[in-house]
Amino acid sequence: MKFAYLLAGGCGGCDMAIVDLSEKLVDALEHLEIVFWAPTVADVKYKDLKAMPDKSVDIGFVSGMVRNKENEELVKVMREKCKILVAYGICAALGGIPGMANLHTKDELLENAYIKCPSVDNPDNVLPSPVSEVNGYKLTLPELLDYVKPVSAVVEVDYFVGGCPPHHDHVAKIVEAIVSGNLPPKGSWITDGKSVCDYCPRNPALKGKTRDFIKEVKRMHEGKVDEEECLLQQGYLCLGPVTQGDCGALCTKAGIRCAGCGGPIPPTKDFGLRAISAITSLFENEKVAKQALEKYPVFAKLIYRYCLPGSMLGEKIEVLKKKEIVR
Ligand code: SF4
Ligand code: SF4
Ligand code: SF4
Repeated sequence: MKFAYLLAGGCGGCDMAIVDLSEKLVDALEHLEIVFWAPTVADVKYKDLKAMPDKSVDIGFVSGMVRNKENEELVKVMREKCKILVAYGICAALGGIPGMANLHTKDELLENAYIKCPSVDNPDNVLPSPVSEVNGYKLTLPELLDYVKPVSAVVEVDYFVGGCPPHHDHVAKIVEAIVSGNLPPKGSWITDGKSVCDYCPRNPALKGKTRDFIKEVKRMHEGKVDEEECLLQQGYLCLGPVTQGDCGALCTKAGIRCAGCGGPIPPTKDFGLRAISAITSLFENEKVAKQALEKYPVFAKLIYRYCLPGSMLGEKIEVLKKKEIVR
């Protein structure tokens, strides 16, 4: 099978998750011929991808979100060339952490990164520009889009994979499913469908108990984490109940609340809304709810940490910004 991989606007961590397959990657390469993996792994050019006949690639992975015009163009090329296209990793699937940029305007982001940031030395307040003249040379940069978009906002996606990055055991299962042709219906998430709680040794249900109400909300740096008790019950707003658990509950096993990188358990349409429902139904009283808002003043950054552009709220923010109703 011919395999292509494009890193769009992400960090490269999802590429690392494939390399982390180690000897399983060697096994996979008996079945997969890598025809394109850019810009991280193979020295191929975008023009090489564009020159391939349409639908000549059996399976393509896109990791990273769509942040600029180059990402947008290349994602469209991947769609043309690949029979099956996978939005691989939570950035590609729903926008990921960079998607929280959609709570700000493009101008605010550029000003903060290139002018206001304390570590920046930029006395002339120069901002990146799509075209610049340097020593008589014309240099170009891909233009930033107004919003971060998930891949599915640009092209049709056949499968979605969560995780930031996806856990390598999960990646191994995905590769096996691809090679064997044992894939779920198109448009699905590739997941075992269980939540992080299902894998978490702290889950009260495993001890025949139910979860207590939350009496006090705590950020992860506050208090001392009990080694065994459910983090949510301790007041740490763990998103394990609503998150795909294909990572095997990595964070909660290490005493850190799940922040939701696995993505929503299908068929959830909006991760944040489901998270609000799961968390707030455990608040003991209104005082706890007020405390949660004090401790997380931008609550969207808690419940939409990995998925704002792909959420119903994210779509509304785009519409409102276009109408200049919100900044
Ligand atoms: S999902 Fe995480 S690891 Fe993958 S590209 Fe995005 S930020 Fe990087
Ligand atoms: S809420 Fe979090 S800590 Fe509690 S059982 Fe679920 S994943 Fe584990
Ligand atoms: S526990 Fe949650 S945040 Fe941590 S890796 Fe798993 S899904 Fe991601």
